[in-house]
Amino acid sequence: MKVLIAEDDAPSLRMLQSLLTKWGYSVTSARDGNEAWKILCDTQHPSLVILDWMMPGIEGIEIVRRLRMNEGGTPHYVIITTTAGSGNSAVQALDAGADDFVGKPFNHGELQARVAVGRRVTGLHQALAEKLQKLEAANETISRLARTDDLTGLHNRRSFNDFFALALSAARRHGHPLSLISIDLDYFKAVNDSFGHTGGDLVLKEFSNLMQEMVRAEDLAVRWGGEEFIILLPQTNCEAAAALAERIRSKFEQTPGSAAPLAMTASFGVAELQDGEHEDDLIRRADEALYRAKNEGRNRVVIAKKKRTRRKATN
Ligand SMILES: [Mg+2]
Repeated sequence: MKVLIAEDDAPSLRMLQSLLTKWGYSVTSARDGNEAWKILCDTQHPSLVILDWMMPGIEGIEIVRRLRMNEGGTPHYVIITTTAGSGNSAVQALDAGADDFVGKPFNHGELQARVAVGRRVTGLHQALAEKLQKLEAANETISRLARTDDLTGLHNRRSFNDFFALALSAARRHGHPLSLISIDLDYFKAVNDSFGHTGGDLVLKEFSNLMQEMVRAEDLAVRWGGEEFIILLPQTNCEAAAALAERIRSKFEQTPGSAAPLAMTASFGVAELQDGEHEDDLIRRADEALYRAKNEGRNRVVIAKKKRTRRKATN
């Protein structure tokens, strides 16, 4: 384990260096407070620190205060040393944030034991930091899984709800357009009937991959449930959204997939958020457009009718 020793008295420094090295530590040394502080500001600095209180430059006790103020990650373990018998030195050092205090001249056995405590505590801090890092990574995975559809890897409804709320508020605040495409695979039941659910799952994955490749990074492709999908398109009007829907429709129609020889197609309903429109109404209008696409023969894109906006009667 690496230890920083800051000590301005040359014989004391030599003695500490030789003892610590003998006890199996790897020693970095500083001859005054400024040098010690410089080393501690380095990213790869030792986390076990032995500081002389009285040093030219920055005093040991001031270094501890600074360390405690700036500490973000794994905390340092700091032992302050000074000549014994100087009043309430130990109390002052501990109050300033030191972990321990050892008076000079050193009792070697005591010093060795106290440094060993520092090593143990530092080890615990590091183990805790590693566990915390793993926990954070696991939380990230859990949170990603909670927002992802298992089969297709697309966003799920929960993710849609969060993203939709943000996109709506941004669209309303900045007056940007916001569009939504509601999608349903045509005659999907026939796929399941002919190829079983495994075949059906493959088609859902193929459609999802195709859709995912064609949307922009800022769009949100969602598996709504079964063979239903939604794409949310921020800063996009219904004409641009319909153009994307048409590209996806045409590509899907032309791509022979797992369900060949069944000709797979999809129907699309497109709606753009209107002034003062409630989000549920936007989804409803996209769905109504999708039903029209179905009723008009499927494999097509239909743009939702605009709701008539009520105008105030003027005299
Ligand atoms: Mg000194």
